[in-house]
Amino acid sequence: MTAYRAWADIDLDALTHNLGVIRHKAGPGTRIVLVVKADAYGHGAVAIASHAVRCGIAALGVSTSAEALELRSAGVRVPILVLGTIVDDEAVDALRSDVHIALHSGERRAMLQELARRLGVRAKVHLKIDTGLGRLGVLPSRAVDLLREIRRSSHLELAGVMTHVSAGEGAFAASTAEQARVFEEVLRKAREERLLGGWIHMANSASLFTGLRPRYDTVRPGISAYGILPADLPGAGDLRPILSLKTQIVFLKDVPQGTPVGYNSTWSAAHATRIATLPVGYNDGVPWRLSNHGAVLVRGHRARIVGRVSMDYITVDVGHIPNVHVGDEVTLIGTQGNETISVEEIAAKVGTISYEITCSVGKRVQRRYVGGETLVLPSQIAPFGAWPPRLPRSTSTAHDGGGNAFHAERAPAEFDPSELDPDFPHGRS
Ligand SMILES: *Cc1c(COP(=O)(O)O)cnc(C)c1O
Repeated sequence: MTAYRAWADIDLDALTHNLGVIRHKAGPGTRIVLVVKADAYGHGAVAIASHAVRCGIAALGVSTSAEALELRSAGVRVPILVLGTIVDDEAVDALRSDVHIALHSGERRAMLQELARRLGVRAKVHLKIDTGLGRLGVLPSRAVDLLREIRRSSHLELAGVMTHVSAGEGAFAASTAEQARVFEEVLRKAREERLLGGWIHMANSASLFTGLRPRYDTVRPGISAYGILPADLPGAGDLRPILSLKTQIVFLKDVPQGTPVGYNSTWSAAHATRIATLPVGYNDGVPWRLSNHGAVLVRGHRARIVGRVSMDYITVDVGHIPNVHVGDEVTLIGTQGNETISVEEIAAKVGTISYEITCSVGKRVQRRYVGGETLVLPSQIAPFGAWPPRLPRSTSTAHDGGGNAFHAERAPAEFDPSELDPDFPHGRS
């Protein structure tokens, strides 16, 4: 049996597949900024980012400067954009590591200009416009002014202009059409004054999969790369979940009728049964609200979580399942035999969104990466022309004058994984 109490198997071949679906949705020539914030939504940012770069994504999106630095330390060299905002103390490290920064106010512009001047660098900034999310971003009425100020700032380079969609249904929502209209209006004015530069981007996963138009030259998917999207969005069925959460049985006990189980004795055995104790709890990503409510998979059968989920343990009723042993592998998220427990199922049960479920997989849970050999490492591609035969050497679309030129030397940017696999379902239309 395995040496781990709990582990997450992360299927890099499924990631490759999902990036192929995203690439297909985005269309040729569209730059993909893969969002790997919050440790790649709990999947492990370094491993996910490294594999995605091998698959040819153009850049990475993170939430904090520290996340960007973690990737830089691990040797990731494609452009990294801090999507939200940095706090002042993070700015020096961010600028030193050539991280792109979303800019959302005049004060922040002045601060970055001054800091970049002192450090002797040019800060790459993406102007973030608030077209309706109401969180970060400059108001549209101020956006063109701020673009003029950026233009006049000797140590700032406009690397992009962006906005973020509020509606979970993406382009199906009327509010998204309104956000796109407001964004377009700013872009039109900026274009007239020749103030535009860098990448133009708006679409997250939901917007991309619902066909947001215009799509602009860059998209920023996150959740869909991990194989998760609300089931009613088109294309959700094409994605493959990449994470399975597993543990093993550490204790089995035959209990008589009436035996209480768990804190506050919220459950007791209605009849004699068998209780398995599993060494995972809410600190590992099993929501407390699954107490007396959730299920796990044991020997291909569903077993109910009985009693309260505690910090480090849960208890499940396995009385109906034959041949259960200590050491048996248990699936909390994923497939065993004909049964599947999806992230979406758990999220619906506890009244949250799927993002929160994968982000909550705790740091005690060992991440194990499987697959991923289907793509060669960039260093193994040489000599060019040998294998794979149709691998493009570089791209005409992924260059911003910044880090991408370097990226194209290392790995074929905008490389479509479907080109490697003749049976790939999305590469031939
Ligand atoms: C998180 C985030 C994304 C990715 O959103 P998904 O719904 O995971 O595709 C894109 N852009 C910004 C600014 C974000 O914060």
